Amino acid sequence: MEKTIQCYCVNCRQVTNHAVLFSIKEHSNDDDYWWESTYSVVKCLGCESIQFHKEDIDESNFEYYGDGDIDTHPTITTYPRQRYKVEPIGNTWELPELVRGLYVETMDCLNNSRLQLAAAGFRAIIEAICRDAKVTGKNLESMINNLAKSHIITAKDRDHLHAIRFMGNDSIHSLKKYREEEVIIVAHIVNAVLTSLYLIAKKVKYLDMKPISKYTEFIDILDESIAKRTVGDVDILRNFIRHDRRIISEDIPGFENELKANITSGTYTKLSLCATPTTGHSQQYKIESI
Ligand SMILES: [Zn+2]
Repeated sequence: MEKTIQCYCVNCRQVTNHAVLFSIKEHSNDDDYWWESTYSVVKCLGCESIQFHKEDIDESNFEYYGDGDIDTHPTITTYPRQRYKVEPIGNTWELPELVRGLYVETMDCLNNSRLQLAAAGFRAIIEAICRDAKVTGKNLESMINNLAKSHIITAKDRDHLHAIRFMGNDSIHSLKKYREEEVIIVAHIVNAVLTSLYLIAKKVKYLDMKPISKYTEFIDILDESIAKRTVGDVDILRNFIRHDRRIISEDIPGFENELKANITSGTYTKLSLCATPTTGHSQQYKIESI
C-alpha cells in the first residue's frame, strides 16, 4: 500500500492526506548530533495537486517526556509555499502603530514556522495593546486585569490574554516549545481581539444602526415619527418611537423626562401633554404640529 502523510494543501487550504509518490532521506553520520531530512513529492488525495514536501528533524528540537516518549517537532517546508497558517487580518493600518509593527512581524514568524519567536511576539502584542489603552499596572499580569476592569476587553478575553502571556513567558524564559496548533490558536485569539478592539470599533462609528445616546438624536427620531402622523393624534411616547431600534428601551425614561420638561417650558412644541391618563399608566401626548 502506498505511503501517505498528512500535510497542508495549498489548494484545499487545509491539512489533507497526501500520497507519497517519491521520497528520499538524508541523515547525519555523526553520533554526537543527530538530524534527518526527508524530501518527498506528494499528491493531495483530495484535489490531486502535487507538491514538494521537506521534513527536517534534529535533536535540538526534541522534547523529552522522561518516560521514553519524545516529540520531534519537525520543521516542514513545502513548495508551492503554504499561503498562510493563519491569515493576517486585513486593514492593519487601522491598528495603533506600536501594535501594527509587532503584529505584522509576529504573523510573518508564525507563517514561516518560527514558532518560538511568534509566541514571544504575541505576548509583546498584548503588552502593546495595554500600553495603547494606557492601562496601568506593575506588570503585564495586572495590566491585563485592568484592561478587563476598564471594560476594554471581556472577562473571557482576559483569560485568553493571560494564556498568551504564559505562552510568551515560557517561550522567552524556559525555551519551552509549543506545538504549531497551539500557536495557531493564539494567533486566532489575537486576530479576534484586534478585530473587536480596533477594526469593528471604527466601523461601528459609520453605521447608522448604533444606539443613540444623545437627547437631540432622540428628538430627531421623534420628529420623523410625528411627521408621519396627523395633527390631533394622541398616543404614548413608546408608540411614537417603537419602530426605531436605535433607541434602547432602558434609555427611554430618561429621554421622556427631558421631553416632558421641554414641553412644559415651551421649548418643544410639536407635542403637548394630555391630562393625567384615565386609562393605562403612561403619559399621553397630543400632536400639535408636524
Ligand atoms: Zn488538496
